[in-house]
Amino acid sequence: MDYVEASPFINAFHQSMIIGAIFMAAAGIIWYLIYQIRVSAISDFHIKYDFINRNEIKTLKTTAYLFGIAAGFMINLYASDKMKDIEVWFFARLAISIFGGTLVGYVGHLIFEYYYPTVLHKKLLKWRYTPRKNPKTGATMRLLSEEEEDVHLESGMQAEENLFSIDYDVWIDEKTGDVKIEKYPGHLEALQCNNCGFYTMKVQKEEITKQASATEPGELVKYYECTYCKMTRATAFNLSNKQTEADYKNLKYKFKVNKDIDLVKLEIHSTVKGKKQYEFQNLEEAQKFLTEFDFDKSDKRYEV
Ligand SMILES: [Zn+2]
Repeated sequence: MDYVEASPFINAFHQSMIIGAIFMAAAGIIWYLIYQIRVSAISDFHIKYDFINRNEIKTLKTTAYLFGIAAGFMINLYASDKMKDIEVWFFARLAISIFGGTLVGYVGHLIFEYYYPTVLHKKLLKWRYTPRKNPKTGATMRLLSEEEEDVHLESGMQAEENLFSIDYDVWIDEKTGDVKIEKYPGHLEALQCNNCGFYTMKVQKEEITKQASATEPGELVKYYECTYCKMTRATAFNLSNKQTEADYKNLKYKFKVNKDIDLVKLEIHSTVKGKKQYEFQNLEEAQKFLTEFDFDKSDKRYEV
């Protein structure tokens, strides 16, 4: 059997498919790596949270699309040593490559659109609730929980039509009273859908149903829709006017898990020296007190 050289076009076509596949796969990897480098360059947890929340899914989808194109190019190399000229198989393979490449990109799209937000949610929680350090003293700050059920609006926003509520995280250094306020745009965060379980519930619309007054909190209704199963939900939130440091400085620390606890009372009994009672604002104070406790030299500040 005579050996037949492939036509110049077929050679050039296969060459460019190899180069294209390598280029697209590399572009996907580099795109993702650049994103990771940018994330790790951000030291502030709040800015990191915002950046990841805005960019991670977009980045992963782009990477999936680039991989899809690379896969399409690679399919066009199938049995390339047997192809000598443009024939039916050339066009059939071309059609399969478009289909295959689209499939890879689309599967990636589905994963990052519906499944991945659950993973992202956990990641974001970590950055949102990792204890902050007071920049002045380096002391660990505490998150106030009291305001969690309330949403806020930027001043002047109440008049606007396209309002978006904000969640405020208020970190307080209990020793110095320093306050760090972090704003989280409430409509960007995806919540878990009660129906399908994915973290694909997003705010579609917000409406003030009652204006806040100086004495009474207002009410804001958020309308959610799940991007996966299309379930809708509406939830009312208290609308708070607080948004400055001064508003928060006077707030007492409240327990994060057991929100209705606002006092720890300790009674210490000694068979020889009788009993003493102490009161604490929080568990940490009580624990610290206990580890250093000496019946005779006990701290008078907490004694009742
Ligand atoms: Zn759903």
